[in-house]
Amino acid sequence: MNPLIEETDVVVLGGGVIGLTTAQVLAEAGTTVVVVADRFSPGTTSDVAAAIWYPYAVQPREKVLGWSAQSVQRYRAMSVDQPDIVRLVEFHELFRSEVGPPWWEAAVDSYRFLDPSELPLGYAAGYAAMVPVVESGRFLTHLRNRLQAAGVRFVQSDSPVRSVADLGVPVVINCTGLGAATLCGDPEVFAIRGQVLRARLTAGCRISYADDSDESAPTYIIPRSTDVILGGTATVGDEGTEVRDADTESILRRCSALVPDLSNAEILEIKVGLRPGRTRVRLEAEELDGIRVIHNYGHGGAGFTLAWGCAEAAANLVLGT
Ligand SMILES: Cc1cc2nc3c(=O)[nH]c(=O)nc-3n(C[C@H](O)[C@H](O)[C@H](O)COP(=O)(O)OP(=O)(O)OC[C@H]3O[C@@H](n4cnc5c(N)ncnc54)[C@H](O)[C@@H]3O)c2cc1C
Repeated sequence: MNPLIEETDVVVLGGGVIGLTTAQVLAEAGTTVVVVADRFSPGTTSDVAAAIWYPYAVQPREKVLGWSAQSVQRYRAMSVDQPDIVRLVEFHELFRSEVGPPWWEAAVDSYRFLDPSELPLGYAAGYAAMVPVVESGRFLTHLRNRLQAAGVRFVQSDSPVRSVADLGVPVVINCTGLGAATLCGDPEVFAIRGQVLRARLTAGCRISYADDSDESAPTYIIPRSTDVILGGTATVGDEGTEVRDADTESILRRCSALVPDLSNAEILEIKVGLRPGRTRVRLEAEELDGIRVIHNYGHGGAGFTLAWGCAEAAANLVLGT
């Protein structure tokens, strides 16, 4: 057992958005928490995310609705207190044929159908909604600082923890994302590779756009406070973390077709991340060799979108409320 971990601690295993929000909700309830991970920000998948509120590549929808609605409320409050970390932005989802109301309409305060005059060339329909955009790196740093100020300890393991029993505590919250495939031997976990470009913000980039009509090549443009994230790719089962020039060219071509101003975009960084896909989010308790394990992983392309709702649900399982 690590000398920094005490027998009475609740261990949150995982230092991405799911682990840190879960630790935050537990700390708010007065629980003594230690966060253990082999990678912290800026080295997590969560650092790669755009991260706009949008329930993408995640199941099951009936649960996702509730978790994502709870998260909207938290982010909305944070956008008032911390506008440098969370902002509400106008988001347009675009379609090449007519569509009915969005399945996620109950999770947002309001949405509207786009007027034909607002549709870029080639699109037949779209929705507009005001949704949170989280500056992922700043958010993770902010949460860590806040947790440390509240007495939460952070322990970096030299290598991935092989078994929850190695942690030597009675309660572990498993927020290991893609790492759960190995840790739990979970065959339902799979990678969804995503490549994004970070470019300098230009005057023509105000609205967030998404077109998911091509499943493996979603197109999205997410303006943040000083930069804009251009995406993307979503290749299931692809674990390649190298930057691919063909993806970069395709992303630039697709995004400039939507916002022509982006054809001269100044690229600041190119990032690749593996979304922790799963047939459905695993949020449940299990007894393993006398240890109570609360699983909270498999959030696909929506970890930020669901984080606070899932953190509340995981904390309720720990606290028995
Ligand atoms: C290109 C891209 C764009 C995205 N855009 C968005 C978006 O706009 N909106 C949105 O909501 N989501 C988005 N996502 C999805 C989002 O990033 C993920 O759903 C989210 O990061 C998952 O968070 P997590 O904490 O579960 O995983 P991670 O961030 O991967 O964190 C897992 C943590 O567990 C630790 N860990 C794993 N296994 C072990 C082990 N055995 N021992 C010790 N530590 C371990 C890791 O070190 C890490 O600290 C995007 C993802 C990508 C790749």
